Amino acid sequence: MNAPLRVAVVGAGPSGLAAAFRVLELAREAGRTVSLSVIEATDRPGGAIGTDEVEGFRVERGADGFITDKPALLNLAKRLGIEGRLVRPEPAQQGASVVKNGELFPIPEGFSMMAPTGIRAFLTSPLISPRGKLRAMGEVLLPRSAPRDDESLASFVRRRFGDEVLERLAQPLIGGIYGADPELLSLRATMPRFLDAEQSSRSVTLGLRRQAARAAQTAHGARYSLFASFDRGMQVLVDALVGALPSGALRLSAPLQAIRPLPEGGAELTFAGHTERHDRVILAISARPSARLLEPLDAPLARRLEQIQHGSCALVNMGFERRLEGLRGYGVVIPDTERRPAIAMTFASRKWAERAPPGSDLVRVFLGEQLAEEADDERLIRTAREELGSLLRIHDVPRVTVVRRYVAAMPHYHVGHLERLATIDRLLAAHPWLSLAGNSLRGVGVPDAIKAGEDAAQLALR
Ligand SMILES: Cc1cc2nc3c(=O)[nH]c(=O)nc-3n(C[C@H](O)[C@H](O)[C@H](O)COP(=O)(O)OP(=O)(O)OC[C@H]3O[C@@H](n4cnc5c(N)ncnc54)[C@H](O)[C@@H]3O)c2cc1C
Repeated sequence: MNAPLRVAVVGAGPSGLAAAFRVLELAREAGRTVSLSVIEATDRPGGAIGTDEVEGFRVERGADGFITDKPALLNLAKRLGIEGRLVRPEPAQQGASVVKNGELFPIPEGFSMMAPTGIRAFLTSPLISPRGKLRAMGEVLLPRSAPRDDESLASFVRRRFGDEVLERLAQPLIGGIYGADPELLSLRATMPRFLDAEQSSRSVTLGLRRQAARAAQTAHGARYSLFASFDRGMQVLVDALVGALPSGALRLSAPLQAIRPLPEGGAELTFAGHTERHDRVILAISARPSARLLEPLDAPLARRLEQIQHGSCALVNMGFERRLEGLRGYGVVIPDTERRPAIAMTFASRKWAERAPPGSDLVRVFLGEQLAEEADDERLIRTAREELGSLLRIHDVPRVTVVRRYVAAMPHYHVGHLERLATIDRLLAAHPWLSLAGNSLRGVGVPDAIKAGEDAAQLALR
């Protein structure tokens, strides 16, 4: 009988846990035996996802839900047997607001990240001046641009819809997801469907409408809303993935310190106090720490990984004892032009059922890079409360406050990202025992992190 294939997955965030689950599935299908280790630096699995129960409030550590038009997470949920625990956002609330001159206005219905597709709602919105509306509506008449290598999201929105749509709507929505500057983000690497809409239909507005009509025609089977989560929060996914691991496979509080490739194939991994050998290594951690580990064995690969920028943010969760007035929709996004410390707010207990005790509310305030990196918790809480007071006139003292800080944790795919990826893939081919997962390379949300993990598992067992 062949010796089992020793597979190490480094990082027990959603990407690493999904990679581990896929390794087990593929090995079972192929009738192969594997010896699996999932190695996590901290004392809990889940990485940036997970849910804490605090005095009756269900507080998400990071992600509170995910988009459903990328199928990896939904497919995984089915295979894990937790499909029945998926929930959709509360339909009664719907929509979100954007801040203009310190006041809240609804985001026009049908506005799709960078493009107004609901014409009536856009034309009646007080967010954009008559001149800005005329400019944006003229998009349907503009010619298709000549194909170019890449461009920033800001350049795309500006040339198709004008400055006002960029500053008042696209920038805060993009900032709310990527925590990044649209002047730097690559259109091809982040939102290629808008480029496809332009290239296929000449006008982005018309192209998006055609995409939507096609999606409606081809939709079959179970339909989900665009966002979903789990009944008891994202922890449901973490628990199911951890529960599917063989006993003893998950090792916590075990930061990987060094990697040394072995002449006979595979690699030796160094931890505090011991080393161990593995035939395959899946690094499911962010690009910067991966670069540090890979530097001694492949400096050009490490350099390309190091070049991928990552942003920071802080999250202040506040649970209030009473139902707050003034919370409309799922939350608020805040344009840079407002020059405020907050980037966005989510009204968690309005967006999802059973996130707060009856008659109370849970609000999450996202604060920007500088505060996340420099301010202490007390200042973060004070700033979040000031923002709630000034934007929503809420001055209550929260019963529960939970601060999370994510430093250099949000990958920013800058213009040229796809060329960098191609070079990374070419350099990786020299290390057949190594594959990279995580969200630094091919998509920033949980569904993409899961797909990256599953693809890395496939490569490892090929
Ligand atoms: C504040 C915030 C809000 C978000 N909201 C959403 C959302 O609403 N929807 C959505 O889809 N996505 C959201 N995301 C993104 C989502 O959380 C990520 O896509 C996802 O967590 C990436 O998973 P990952 O496994 O690649 O990385 P991570 O979740 O970062 O996990 C990596 C793991 O590797 C471990 N590790 C690092 N170095 C080592 C080492 N040397 N040895 C061993 N282990 C190591 C870390 O401790 C960590 O547990 C959000 C992210 C943040 C920060």
